Amino acid sequence: MTLTQELVDWTYEQKCRKAVASLEKNGFTAVYCNSGTEASDYIIREAEGAASIGFGGSMSVVDLQVADRLKEMGKELLNHSAPGLTPEQRLEIMHRQLACDLFLTGTNALTLSGMLVNIDATGNRVGSMFFGPRKVIVVAGRNKLVDGGVEDAIRRVKEMASPPNARRLNFKTPCATTGFCSDCNSPDRICRVTTVIDRQPRRTDMRILVINEDMGL
Ligand code: SF4
Repeated sequence: MTLTQELVDWTYEQKCRKAVASLEKNGFTAVYCNSGTEASDYIIREAEGAASIGFGGSMSVVDLQVADRLKEMGKELLNHSAPGLTPEQRLEIMHRQLACDLFLTGTNALTLSGMLVNIDATGNRVGSMFFGPRKVIVVAGRNKLVDGGVEDAIRRVKEMASPPNARRLNFKTPCATTGFCSDCNSPDRICRVTTVIDRQPRRTDMRILVINEDMGL
């Protein structure tokens, strides 16, 4: 590892640890992970007692490559993005995610003051984050950290997450072509539901893994 990389990692570690401390102050169970591997191992341990595992469609969770390991453990995977599903099957899986044993998702932004900010198109991902599943694990790579408030977090999502996500999902939005948000009114607009989770939800066992690696968009 170069000295530059070492210093970059150290700087991000301080920010990640600050976010963890703020999340804990806000009542969440938060864990600092030095790497994606540490986060994957945490998820596998926490999945032991779960029969059904829901996937919110997060690139961060894809990056962790836990799906195959969970399948080998005999878990039922509820993934509405799996290839070959009909629209009806996708919708059915989204409904079942709302009541799964363990829901895995990323977050579009995490403020250093310990708030999770997300923008969703359908609302299934954000809905499953705060009520329904018995346990929720949120994966937050260091690239999701925002030193600011809700408005700054929303700006991060509109600048760094929504345009590439619209492109990835092949939506016909202006940002999928230009890379910039124009607050469109497109039928394909993916920014339709904005949520701020600023304290641990009362009835949901929610864990936030703050990882000192870039994860997802
Ligand atoms: S509002 Fe429209 S243009 Fe802006 S990020 Fe969302 S989908 Fe893209």
